[in-house]
Amino acid sequence: MTEPASKPVLNLHSILDCSRGNGPGLRSVIWFQGCTLGCPGCFNPDTHADQPRISLGADDLVTRLLGLGEAVQGVSLTGGEPFEQPEGLYALVSALRNRTELSLLIFSGHSRGEILRMPLGEEILLRTDVLIAGRYLQRRHLGRRLLGSSNQKIHLLSGRYSLRDFDTLPELEVQIDGRGGVVITGVAPAELEPEAG
Ligand code: SF4
Repeated sequence: MTEPASKPVLNLHSILDCSRGNGPGLRSVIWFQGCTLGCPGCFNPDTHADQPRISLGADDLVTRLLGLGEAVQGVSLTGGEPFEQPEGLYALVSALRNRTELSLLIFSGHSRGEILRMPLGEEILLRTDVLIAGRYLQRRHLGRRLLGSSNQKIHLLSGRYSLRDFDTLPELEVQIDGRGGVVITGVAPAELEPEAG
């Protein structure tokens, strides 16, 4: 008798329960750990190494998201590179679709064409509302509409949002957590880095 395949475990960098700076409406943000694309000037280099950081199954993560209540309207997946964990990403987007009404936005350094040629790429995009795709190119830095650089593209994959929903999003968001820690997210966070000294 064949053993059932084990469920993939996600390797995550961090989770922010509520944000208004990473997509339309109030959203949870999930940073994947691991990226091999090496864009010069990447503003999130701590996410590149693929060593285990936060290990979580897709179903457990969705249960946590459901516990946040109805104020949260969607989930944004970023990184790191979500598509470097295709089995875990597919399990997560499937669980989100099967168990929630949350909208799904994915940031990727890959183009849509590259993703469609990946194993599970098409299946993942079929369950995605918005894909923001393309390498970050420092010489074309933009920092608007969730686009880090002007070569990146917003793909509206369902009828849930229009491009107008991205016009008024902040370039960055600053949150103070319960212990006084500062969390800076968005597409231009480097501008608020503290000065050395
Ligand atoms: S794809 Fe994203 S996380 Fe990876 S190096 Fe490029 S900007 Fe950084």
